[in-house]
Amino acid sequence: MKLCQRARASCGACCGLYNRHDLGRAAVRAELTRHTRVLARAPRTPEGFRDAARRLAEEAPPPLFPSIRVCQLVGFLDAEETRVGCLAHPKATGGVDLRACGVYDVDTCESFLCPSHAAIGEREAAIAEAATDFHLYGLVVTDGPWLRAVLDGLGAAAGRTVEPEELRGTQLPGALRRLLATKEELEPGSDGLFGAFRHGQRPPEPGSSPKEAILEALGADARSGNDVDGLERELFARFDACVAALRWARMGGK
Ligand code: SF4
Ligand code: SF4
Repeated sequence: MKLCQRARASCGACCGLYNRHDLGRAAVRAELTRHTRVLARAPRTPEGFRDAARRLAEEAPPPLFPSIRVCQLVGFLDAEETRVGCLAHPKATGGVDLRACGVYDVDTCESFLCPSHAAIGEREAAIAEAATDFHLYGLVVTDGPWLRAVLDGLGAAAGRTVEPEELRGTQLPGALRRLLATKEELEPGSDGLFGAFRHGQRPPEPGSSPKEAILEALGADARSGNDVDGLERELFARFDACVAALRWARMGGK
């Protein structure tokens, strides 16, 4: 299964993309655009990329967690700004590997696999890919237990497993996107935003309903300032709307 770079979606969470005080789509896009523009002008040499990374870091927003590294070499891979990825990778530079100019060594960048690689499968990844964008994809796929809880809950409520093919030509992707975008409502620093670095997950309380299991897995800890009651109301309403869209699609509705 491919998770980091898929045909229509990609992730940069382990490069530190979400380690920031302002997690909004506009702020994340602005930072990725800044990286991309500066690196596009940098010489494709270790000296050129190191100097660019140093200059970018000087102007970068402060990280929320200083212990989690934020790499200045992550940016947009395409002119339309739909794909996040490593601008120092040989496929992005045209041949030379400049990843050692970032915050890790090449071996670490090459070999790191976040826990989602063991937690979710191709079906879940394909559904996430179809219902997200450059900002939401990384928030969703790095929290495998949550994504699985969402899709298991929808399948249980609508009678059978959700399949990627069901997202084509219906209103389901929009409804699922709104449900998954509950991740974007979490306060910066919440447990649910750092699945790429988290190992182990508490199983849902025995007897939890599907909606309760999704809420438990969301990572909306109160100590990060989350309005847990408000998130619960919003999450449950979006879940119900998604179940309705799924049932409608299964009846042949558009
Ligand atoms: S956080 Fe996981 S899915 Fe995202 S780029 Fe890193 S290894 Fe890949
Ligand atoms: S150099 Fe490594 S940490 Fe930096 S953007 Fe590339 S893959 Fe991510």
